[in-house]
Amino acid sequence: MIKFLDLQKVNQQYQEELKEAASRVIDSGWYLQGNELELFETNYATFCGSKYALGVANGLDALRLIFKAYIEMGVMQKGDEVIIPANTYIASVLAVTDNGLVPVLVEPTIATYNLDTSKLERAITSKTKAILTVHLYGQNSVDAVMLAICKKYNLKLIEDSAQSHGAIYNGKVMGSIGDATGHSFYPGKNLGALGDAGAVTTNDEALFQVIKALGNYGSIKKYENKYKGLNSRLDEIQAAFLNVKLKYINADIKNRRMVANYYLNNIKNPLITLPTVLIQDGHVWHLFVIRLKNREALQNYLLENGVQTLIHYPIPPHKQMAYTELSDLNLPITEKIHQEVLSLPISAVLTQDELVRIVELVNAYKQ
Ligand SMILES: *Cc1c(COP(=O)(O)O)cnc(C)c1O
Repeated sequence: MIKFLDLQKVNQQYQEELKEAASRVIDSGWYLQGNELELFETNYATFCGSKYALGVANGLDALRLIFKAYIEMGVMQKGDEVIIPANTYIASVLAVTDNGLVPVLVEPTIATYNLDTSKLERAITSKTKAILTVHLYGQNSVDAVMLAICKKYNLKLIEDSAQSHGAIYNGKVMGSIGDATGHSFYPGKNLGALGDAGAVTTNDEALFQVIKALGNYGSIKKYENKYKGLNSRLDEIQAAFLNVKLKYINADIKNRRMVANYYLNNIKNPLITLPTVLIQDGHVWHLFVIRLKNREALQNYLLENGVQTLIHYPIPPHKQMAYTELSDLNLPITEKIHQEVLSLPISAVLTQDELVRIVELVNAYKQ
């Protein structure tokens, strides 16, 4: 069986170093807010080209904390609107609604699956305070139109870079373009911990300080609480693992691009739409997502032939039970995408033989 993602094999690549990192933390007797975290924050800020990086418990918290901080700072208040792509993982929407902000869902383009920036301006009202853009599947979602609109309407630009570590737009790495960025290091992400982890990056010192306090019980000084905060910290052991894996992220991206290019050059099946790449450096291929009618038939056929695929995602946020208040929205492109996408295996540990086999099967597929 060719697994969709073989995490055991992924982490086996770094086995010695990961074990050494775990031992170091166990022996240190220091498990939170220590040297490993400090080193990771420094390294990750450098990697993103941003002034500040703050380790937090997971990607959802990273996004939640950004909005919570803007509310504490008086930049936003409950009831304000945040524009989000309708085609995203639910975490992006949860971060907004969890803070009492109102999500305004805007359609993606069918080519990129990212926000259709030509539809942004129409979605803006006097209550709009921010755009939360999602670099879905690993592809940059920022363009000149989006940047100009943020400037014109004085909107905060927040990036959801859970899937796009290292993707580049105009010479800038995701996480250094907007006002603040949420990153996830969930094990299956391109830069994955061995458990939950996340980070916020920003160049805004005031924002950084508020988020830092909010993630640690709202405390700046121990046992003194300035805000009603959360407990959202990145464990030393996960920071130690991430320090190991960050060293190899560029090699991992290179391998993913090789896999993606192989698929792009060799999948030739008229039933299938391949992903569109706008800028080579702008895509880090967290997922390789194809699109076709009746995708379940292809998924079953591949599974019967020993290839596991997944669907990202089968139900859009506005059709989830959790968001019945959004269920009447008319978002046909988003719904079409959710009905037709299928993710093929992609990772640095996929072998050439496996890749050839997958492409042969996909090309031989008939309805
Ligand atoms: C994974 C993901 C998140 C949330 O990250 P967690 O670490 O799982 O909380 C947020 N947004 C997107 C687009 C994601 O893919």
